[in-house]
Amino acid sequence: MTTPLVDPHGRVVRDLRISVTDRCNFRCTYCMPEEGMTWLPRSEVLTFEEIERVARICVERYGFGSIRLTGGEPTVRAHLPLLVEKLAGLGVDLAMTTNGATLRLLAADLRRAGLNRVNISLDSLRAERFEALTRRNALADVLDGIDAAVEAGFSPVKVNCVLIRGVNDDEAIAFAEFGRRRGVVIRFIEFMPLDADGAWSAASVVPAAEVVSTIDAVYPLEPVASGSAPAERWRYRDGGGEIGVISSVTNSFCGTCDRVRLTAEGQFRNCLFAVRETDLRAVLRGGGSDDDVAAAVEAEVGRKWAGHSIGQVTFVRPDRSMSQIGG
Ligand code: SAM
Ligand code: SF4
Repeated sequence: MTTPLVDPHGRVVRDLRISVTDRCNFRCTYCMPEEGMTWLPRSEVLTFEEIERVARICVERYGFGSIRLTGGEPTVRAHLPLLVEKLAGLGVDLAMTTNGATLRLLAADLRRAGLNRVNISLDSLRAERFEALTRRNALADVLDGIDAAVEAGFSPVKVNCVLIRGVNDDEAIAFAEFGRRRGVVIRFIEFMPLDADGAWSAASVVPAAEVVSTIDAVYPLEPVASGSAPAERWRYRDGGGEIGVISSVTNSFCGTCDRVRLTAEGQFRNCLFAVRETDLRAVLRGGGSDDDVAAAVEAEVGRKWAGHSIGQVTFVRPDRSMSQIGG
């Protein structure tokens, strides 16, 4: 018997984002500094058993329906398929966001272990620009990783692309063509003020509406009726597949938000932009019962705000960057 977990604004929380590591094999400019990242000591990172316990409580008590693994880069966590296998046993929609660089090695194992869906991040199709953005010469590996995900049977494979004004905003059409050719769904995500070096400005955001109209002018689009998912879906009128746009800045989807997050070191957050969090690891390692864990989860959800205020003077940047929260 599950009881829905309802926040103070009447939204039912049913989606858990789990960061399985703070480490990463890339250093994307909009996410991490080039040098000087200090990683959490392994002892501070939640074990697979601890992660599974939190997930189980969320699913069994509150009927959570989806879990997404993220990071840092989730695939650098050793034995990731074992965690996937444990979480798949909970019977929820299990997804992962990855930079894709090592998917050639892992995609089939992850699929076999019970991963349902995969999103691969890719912000440029030009090798030099890709290297400037990620500080890694790995475009070929990521493209091969996308192929590996398709071959492993993930369907549809989604590719997340953050367009930044003056950096890669001239690639919208190239991405559309890439998606049509490879049979993957490109999701354009607006640049958010969660970059490690604080370079974000409103002027650097490429609005989702602009991306839609740029692509529509070349490959006509029509909207797909969608539920509460943040991605607004559009399909090509000629049947060439679809794209998604995530207008997290220009048109926040906070009103339908159903998410909470668990960081790699066990901090429980009620929003990507939250400026406070609950130390669930202390409860887990302090001998807390499932009731204690659930009480901490409920208390944090009880503090969930109506929404972020990016673009307004009241907006306060969280201390953590995207890789530390788990995007
Ligand atoms: N390493 C994995 C990856 O890159 O897909 C998972 C973690 S990453 C933090 C999750 C997603 O957040 C990626 O799609 C990345 O492009 C996105 N991201 C990181 N920093 C961002 C920012 N400042 N604004 C918008 N998206 C961002
Ligand atoms: Fe790593 Fe993903 Fe951040 Fe890039 S966006 S540095 S791949 S965690």
